[in-house]
Amino acid sequence: MIIVMKNGAQPEQVEVVRQHLKRAGMDVHTSVGRERTLLGVIGDVRGISTEAIESLPGVERALRILEPYKLAGRRLKTDPTVVEVGGVKIGGPEVVLMAGPCAVEGLEMLRATATAAREAGISVLRGGAFKPRTSPYSFQGLGREGLEFLARVRAEVGLPVVTEVMAPDQIELVADHADMLQIGARNMQNFNLLQEVGRSRKPVMLKRGMMSSVDEWLQAAEYVLAYGNTQVVLCERGIRTFETHTRNTLDISAIPTVKRLSHLPVIVDPSHGTGRRDLVIPMAMAAVAAGADGVMVEAHPNPEKALSDGAQSLDLAQLRELATQVGLVAEAVGRALHEPPRP
Ligand code: PEP
Ligand code: MN
Repeated sequence: MIIVMKNGAQPEQVEVVRQHLKRAGMDVHTSVGRERTLLGVIGDVRGISTEAIESLPGVERALRILEPYKLAGRRLKTDPTVVEVGGVKIGGPEVVLMAGPCAVEGLEMLRATATAAREAGISVLRGGAFKPRTSPYSFQGLGREGLEFLARVRAEVGLPVVTEVMAPDQIELVADHADMLQIGARNMQNFNLLQEVGRSRKPVMLKRGMMSSVDEWLQAAEYVLAYGNTQVVLCERGIRTFETHTRNTLDISAIPTVKRLSHLPVIVDPSHGTGRRDLVIPMAMAAVAAGADGVMVEAHPNPEKALSDGAQSLDLAQLRELATQVGLVAEAVGRALHEPPRP
């Protein structure tokens, strides 16, 4: 339920409404706008009478809303959310580029990738330490050592870090070494994990599940928000279809769809979205043309030798090409590339 207060309603009147709802066992989120205050009522509102609420002083209307994502939706919060990750603003006017290896394989390769990325104009370093691999025999990531390499390179090169967390008991460790917690596509509906990152205060990047609808994705974001973490970035990374030329089908239409439904920033991962290096730059350009707030790509100093996802990884020279091409599209749509943070 959303309660729209009258233009000019007094803070005391707002408080009376809040207390009324709290006594009924509801959680109330208050959004103070320039013109009026909105109250978002979270809980089982079936027993609450809209007429009774509308009879309270200062209330204009009480509306029952059907969307399953009150906090992630635009109805309660109309202005865009900007998530700040180590000095980089995601969801603001500038387009953020993120790059790094699929998996952290060692200190040297990570340092080389991060250095080249920063020089190319990339603002955030990615790299997996805990890897969700389909086969138990594939490289599983370096775990804690990988996180230590990420933290070290972050300090040396001066780029904030995003890395995946796969289980609730890893959150503290990952949060100690990274600036943003990535929830992978395979864990988008791991509700226990969503709750726990919701209790954390680190920014969260929530990837779309490979077989999830936009509504399911936004409800997954709702979990994180409902547990108190407001810093959520959504990442479209392709969905499964019958098409076999690409690893996944990158759903470009999801970008303006989510932008319309939600105030959360949306970025795109064209590496997992296509599985093919030659498609990464064109799809990154398409994503920004469609309104994406950022792009995250996989990059490796020697993609042929990569321990995971080499076929979709850019080499370090291609990172410059990515920044040039995406920069042109950003300008064409009235935006610019975010600069890497100052060291
Ligand atoms: C990744 O970005 O490292 C990854 C595993 O991606 P996804 O969860 O989208 O498959
Ligand atoms: Mn990968």
